[in-house]
Amino acid sequence: MDDQFRELYQEIILDHNRSPRNFGSLPDATHKLEGQNPLCGDRYVFYLKVKDGKVEDVRFEGKGCAISKSSASVMSEFIKGKKIEEIDDYVDLFQKIVRGELDPAEYMEKLGKLAVFAGVSEFPMRVKCATLPWHTLHNALHGKHDATVSTEE
Ligand code: ZN
Repeated sequence: MDDQFRELYQEIILDHNRSPRNFGSLPDATHKLEGQNPLCGDRYVFYLKVKDGKVEDVRFEGKGCAISKSSASVMSEFIKGKKIEEIDDYVDLFQKIVRGELDPAEYMEKLGKLAVFAGVSEFPMRVKCATLPWHTLHNALHGKHDATVSTEE
């Protein structure tokens, strides 16, 4: 990471950890799923309101480290209003970026704020913290309802 990128990484994680966006529950959710990362103790419930193949609204609640919470928060902002097919693309892309399998520089425009999580690839223990929200989102959108998913399954 260069200095500018590191600064942005820290700034976004601190900001979203301190004041997570879309935090809380969603009474009229069509999809609800709990995700946990036992290695770190991260545990969140995600609520989605899906209509006409689009995520109209999203909330999450729970507890975890700064990386998982900020990742969930940034993800919630990012997916609101997007089509499920489009989100599926990002689930895959985000996981590859965080694992260091792709160069984020090539996807900056597409990723926007999500690109900062490429910084997590330098800390292998934290990769599952960052991917937990996306892993849970993917499972919620594709059939797992009212259950729990784990990064260790
Ligand atoms: Zn964590």
